[in-house]
Amino acid sequence: MALEDIRNRIAAAEAAAGRAAGSVKLIAVSKVQPPERAEAVLAEGQRLFGENYVQEAAAKWPAWRERFPGVAVHMIGPLQTNKAKQAVDLFEAIHTLDRASLAERLARLAQARGASPDLFVQVNTGAEPQKAGVLPDDADAFIATCRGLDLPVIGLMCIPPEGEDTTPHFAMLAGIAARNGLTGLSMGMSSDFEAAIAAGATHVRVGSAIFGARVYA
Ligand SMILES: *Cc1c(COP(=O)(O)O)cnc(C)c1O
Repeated sequence: MALEDIRNRIAAAEAAAGRAAGSVKLIAVSKVQPPERAEAVLAEGQRLFGENYVQEAAAKWPAWRERFPGVAVHMIGPLQTNKAKQAVDLFEAIHTLDRASLAERLARLAQARGASPDLFVQVNTGAEPQKAGVLPDDADAFIATCRGLDLPVIGLMCIPPEGEDTTPHFAMLAGIAARNGLTGLSMGMSSDFEAAIAAGATHVRVGSAIFGARVYA
């Protein structure tokens, strides 16, 4: 079974990197997958999931949370400021904090609710114009801004450029995290999660290797 295979590969990568067993969290990325695939993985005991779209997550997860206690869902897609309120109600963590306007909105929501999801700052390690995330040179200042707003930033997230060797990007993200005293590293997907674990990933986001290819309508 794919889920068990991925769990075994994560355990082997942890051991190979000299890291403690269980130090890497597997986020099963269920965006756009048929519901029966997610239900099969829930039935196998997986409880941590990733979603990219607020609307889709709002339609799927409330019912599954009732049926499968202990579920946590992380937002890993770009977050529009006008969806922030819905997002803080839906997700245990948001991996895509990438701009001051969103930080300010999340801070106001956190104050009103007395709680906030865990936050990861997304860094555009490849400085790609079309990609979300703060530029590497701006990361330290942005993290300081978020801390000034009392936001619970626990780590950094990146999506390396398509088709490039991901290792330098993972190393860059780990370096920015270390110099800012952040321990969370959300990096690595189906094709490169083992390399990400070798570079220190604490959260790997694996979709198609668990669920099969996504079929977009
Ligand atoms: C879709 C997605 C993933 C999962 O990608 P796979 O290649 O299917 O593992 C991981 N991270 C983000 C940010 C995504 O959007």
